[in-house]
Amino acid sequence: MTFDYDLFVIGGGSGGVRAARIAASEYGARVGLAEESRMGGTCVIRGCVPKKLMIFASQAEAHAAEARGYGWAGAQAGAFDWQSFHKKLDAELTRLEGAYTGGLAAANVEIHKSRAKLYDAHTVELADGQRLTAKHILIAVGGRPQLPGFEGEELGLISDDLFLMDKLPGRVLVVGGGFIACEFATILNGLGAETVLAYRGDAVLRGFDMEMRRHATEQLRAVGVDLRLNQKDLKLEKDGDRVRAHLDEGPETFDAVMFATGRAPYTKGLGLEELGVKLAKNGAIVVDDYSQSSVPSIFAVGDVTDRVNLTPVAIREGHSFADTVFGAKPRTVDHSLYGAAVYVRPHEVASIGLTEEEAAERGQHDVYSASFRPMRSLFAGSDARAVMKLIVDSDSQKVVGCHIFGPEAGEMIQLVAIPMGMGATKAQFDAAIAVHPTLAEELVTMRKPARHIGGKAADKTVGKA
Ligand code: NDP
Repeated sequence: MTFDYDLFVIGGGSGGVRAARIAASEYGARVGLAEESRMGGTCVIRGCVPKKLMIFASQAEAHAAEARGYGWAGAQAGAFDWQSFHKKLDAELTRLEGAYTGGLAAANVEIHKSRAKLYDAHTVELADGQRLTAKHILIAVGGRPQLPGFEGEELGLISDDLFLMDKLPGRVLVVGGGFIACEFATILNGLGAETVLAYRGDAVLRGFDMEMRRHATEQLRAVGVDLRLNQKDLKLEKDGDRVRAHLDEGPETFDAVMFATGRAPYTKGLGLEELGVKLAKNGAIVVDDYSQSSVPSIFAVGDVTDRVNLTPVAIREGHSFADTVFGAKPRTVDHSLYGAAVYVRPHEVASIGLTEEEAAERGQHDVYSASFRPMRSLFAGSDARAVMKLIVDSDSQKVVGCHIFGPEAGEMIQLVAIPMGMGATKAQFDAAIAVHPTLAEELVTMRKPARHIGGKAADKTVGKA
């Protein structure tokens, strides 16, 4: 049987674009790709990229305060002009979208600006009814924000909406305590909005190392976010052109309410169930180590598979899929070790490997930890503390976890990922001569464990790092 394409990709986000490009340019596959929205997907258009630019924008006042601490009397950030920032942001996203589209075109990938769904195991149907056949189909449609089911939640916004606002809200409620809630509370607060964060737990960033969670929670409060922890269900109702939110403390009025209560795989209406593609309870496509679904011609990568929902993981999955299927180089992705950073400010949270809590459950580990006030902010008059932690397997002496709460922690964890991926021991970390004065030098100068965890000596403090 002849097909229109060797590969048809549904979804032009990070994972789909990488798979399409590698299959076409490296292995000569005939590739088609359908994208219903802007090319680049969540990360480029309404996620990582615009979010990080907004994080940068939100730090002007903090930078001015630091400058004053260094003797720049009267240094002020001035007035933030959302319209001019927004215009620039739009132009930047258009540039990036063009780069993604250009990269695909240069690789001879045929782009269809349309929604696509499955018609059968080798056929996709576009919005205009056109049907295209392919030997392999890759689903890379990502995820979409998920609402918690609160009364009146339709009055709330999701993170996508924040990038499109005409003006900044004066008073805003952010609901959730994960990546998006913490980052957007940081942004909105930094840009001058009176920001309330309502979270059902007692420390934000569940899943991260508990010590880092506590620091992140305290920092949000310290920078001026009004934190409401252990919040129960919320009810929203209209209050003129504002929104009244019934919090545990009683009703309060906001210019905007934003839900950041998780994301779910975007599989509805794709025709997957009809074809017998196995889905998880939350709609995620169930795939094997090679990203192959229960229907052999259909593969899936990225957030739609709900493995590790991070852009670089989706890219790696897309690349591995192309190598395996079109390059005769079978490759799987190791989902057990990956770095992640949450861009709260001034100190970010960044992690790789086991948390202290996970390590304690698995057996005996040594925890090396340093907590200090970085020289840069200390000199400017800030008491903010940074924390660095290494978790070391007591038997093998391998570094199995690293957690950093500090300025540019994301940059540091990226580099720690290299020795950790190589299975480096604590002694090998220590063999590196420190670069002084830096924050990262702490990672190679922590001589004695702060405590042993797991097993008989659990949680016993043995000395200061
Ligand atoms: P997260 O899963 O990180 O957080 C969801 C938050 O919503 C949690 O605090 C959760 O509480 C809370 N929540 C969920 N359901 C309810 C409910 N019914 N009622 C009240 N609260 C609820 O999701 P995000 O939306 O923040 O981010 C989605 C994904 O996007 C992340 O998992 C991450 O992979 C990715 N991302 C990565 C970024 C980065 O790398 N820097 C930045 C932004 C997003 P609880 O903790 O109690 O479950």
